[in-house]
Amino acid sequence: MLGAPGAGKGTQAERLARALRIPKISTGDILREAVHTGTEIGRRAKAIMDRGELVSDEVIIGVVRERLAKPDAAGGFILDGFPRTVAQAAALDGLMNGHDPLIVVDIAVPEAELVRRLSSRRVCENCGANAEVDSDVDDAGRCLRCGGRLKQRDDDKESVILERLKIYRRDTEPLVDYYRTRPTFRAVNGAQPAERVAADLAAAIDAVATTGTNR
Ligand code: AMP
Repeated sequence: MLGAPGAGKGTQAERLARALRIPKISTGDILREAVHTGTEIGRRAKAIMDRGELVSDEVIIGVVRERLAKPDAAGGFILDGFPRTVAQAAALDGLMNGHDPLIVVDIAVPEAELVRRLSSRRVCENCGANAEVDSDVDDAGRCLRCGGRLKQRDDDKESVILERLKIYRRDTEPLVDYYRTRPTFRAVNGAQPAERVAADLAAAIDAVATTGTNR
């Protein structure tokens, strides 16, 4: 799943993973968990994440290699937030060697909408759901799904948002060109309600899967 920060990758990846009964593998979630539990990788990643910069390719490729080797990933998986550089995409191609081809979907959203979404995004401390500050909250301003307390991610503060978008344009957007010529690449319009994006995404994946083309 490709797309800028705020494009809705996490939300869509989670829905799709539930529908297809395969794991959602989010490198951002894995790193936040590592920060929370205080592992070596977490300690090193925290300052980088707080600045909105990217963790080194070497570290993140190691994290993904280890995660994809777990038994629950054997029947397929959704990647959210990886790859983010051409070096990571090349490493992923290596890891996929001998497996079914990757299906790559880019969720495209205009920049002004990304900034609006990221600055109003809150995350439930209890269940991890994403919420928009004025719309997806209960009367007490808590998580609609579980009633948990909502918190702003440290890297969703305005100065960090702009840095993340800059890094996205510089390091990650080139991946659209890296994948565009493959028959397994699709783009969907992410500037629509989540339900519509989910329907377009499912249709795109279906279209690729039924053509059965190799990359
Ligand atoms: P995300 O939740 O996907 O927005 O990721 C949060 C932060 O984790 C990013 O701003 C990066 O600092 C780091 N991160 C997540 N995925 C990657 C990746 N594939 N490569 C490098 N850094 C990453």
